[in-house]
Amino acid sequence: MQSFAYIIASILFIIGLKQLGSAATARRGNMISAVGMLLAVIATLAGSGFSWTWIIAGMLIGGAIGAIAAKKVEMTGMPEMVALFNGSGGIASLFVGWASQQNPGPGGLTTASEIPLFLAVLIGGVTFTGSLVAWAKLSEKIDGKPIQFKGQQIVNIAVLAAILICGVLFVMNSGGTWNPWLLLIVLLSFVFGIMVVIPIGGADMPVVIALLNSYSGLAACAAGFIISNTVLIVSGSLVGASGIILTGIMCKAMNRSLGNVLFSGFGSASSSGGTAVEGEAKPISADDTYYILEAASSVVFVPGYGMAVAQAQHAVKELAAQLEENGTEVSFAIHPVAGRMPGHMNVLLAEADVPYEQLVEPEDVNPNMPATDVAVVIGANDVVNPAARTDEASPLYGMPVINVDQAKTCIVLKRSLRPGYAGVENPLFFCENTRMLLGDAKASVQALVSQFKED
Ligand code: NDP
Repeated sequence: MQSFAYIIASILFIIGLKQLGSAATARRGNMISAVGMLLAVIATLAGSGFSWTWIIAGMLIGGAIGAIAAKKVEMTGMPEMVALFNGSGGIASLFVGWASQQNPGPGGLTTASEIPLFLAVLIGGVTFTGSLVAWAKLSEKIDGKPIQFKGQQIVNIAVLAAILICGVLFVMNSGGTWNPWLLLIVLLSFVFGIMVVIPIGGADMPVVIALLNSYSGLAACAAGFIISNTVLIVSGSLVGASGIILTGIMCKAMNRSLGNVLFSGFGSASSSGGTAVEGEAKPISADDTYYILEAASSVVFVPGYGMAVAQAQHAVKELAAQLEENGTEVSFAIHPVAGRMPGHMNVLLAEADVPYEQLVEPEDVNPNMPATDVAVVIGANDVVNPAARTDEASPLYGMPVINVDQAKTCIVLKRSLRPGYAGVENPLFFCENTRMLLGDAKASVQALVSQFKED
């Protein structure tokens, strides 16, 4: 019966994951996966002789922390929360490994369980401290700049080699209450997790988080092998595989390799730069922007991280509805890495009930950009930086961007001329056809909405 429930749970995970692939079905997909997880938990507990006091206490405490954190988190704080969740997954797998070493059951530990135990502790430990560093960088608790020093790679290789040697020694002698090799593996994997994330810049943290998500899945998978739990092996593998696919998608959207993300120190003083940007930005008032929009027959909105900060999505949806009423063709061009996590803009626009048919990918919108009357950039910066196309010296060079500079008029809504997340100057602000509507994005869009209402 338990195996049957595990098969159903695994099928629900796979269907749920598939549905997460599209904004239209994502909510349902999440629900289906959650039902699968509930079934897996019930089936595991029903077939066990556990101490219920501990389990109920754990579920109440963990459930309460999770519910409060999920309720309280701002949309802009989502990547940090995912980082903490990944870290929790990693440390949980480490504890499963450790507890199994302390209490290996009647047959004792065999090589078949010692190897996954070593892997669960190693990957779990790396995921734990790596995720904490990623969280600290993203939430600016520590400086987001890459921390690099001479001989860093050699130190990392030495730490990894020490972990592997301890792993071999642990497999040769895995007994004892405080097994020294296991303790060393725990300690060194914590150190390794910190060492591999500190040289990566804050701008690349969302990619690191997707990768650590994959690691947390692999750690859970290894834990599943230790305690012979099929559904943990399956769900861990699914998380491991989906995390690595997501990492690949993000790297592709930035036209960078994973190696470049992990080792190039993107965002350090030496990597930010490109050809100096000169010129004078032309500000525009909300009144004048209204006249331009009112006369436009096609408008493309390009949202970015600033829309999330300003929480402007509802106002933007209202403006889009007014433009449509006015006979204007409206679409929303979504860059895959706009915002701070994949799908960030899709989630915000879905929350504001923007129809999915109005969302377009950069490769579909770019060919039509020269024929577009107005491109309205709402708190986006790096993902609309034309230097990515034109300036070989720019760190963003080669990243596919949305070509808003090619629209007949481009209106940029942001608070200043400051660069975006990658710290790279944006020549878009100084283009002949660009006008800067400076101020908080929500206030600016609301001013435009009021103008349409008055009209
Ligand atoms: P950026 O971070 O480049 O720019 C956002 C802009 O929003 C800022 O320049 C800021 O300008 C403006 N802004 C902030 N608050 C407000 C506000 N209240 N009102 C108006 N404007 C505001 O955002 P993008 O979305 O264009 O680019 C995302 C960046 O994140 C890229 O560099 C991408 O590579 C990186 N990244 C994203 C990942 C993802 O999965 N989404 C993954 C990895 C990296 P100002 O301060 O002047 O207002």
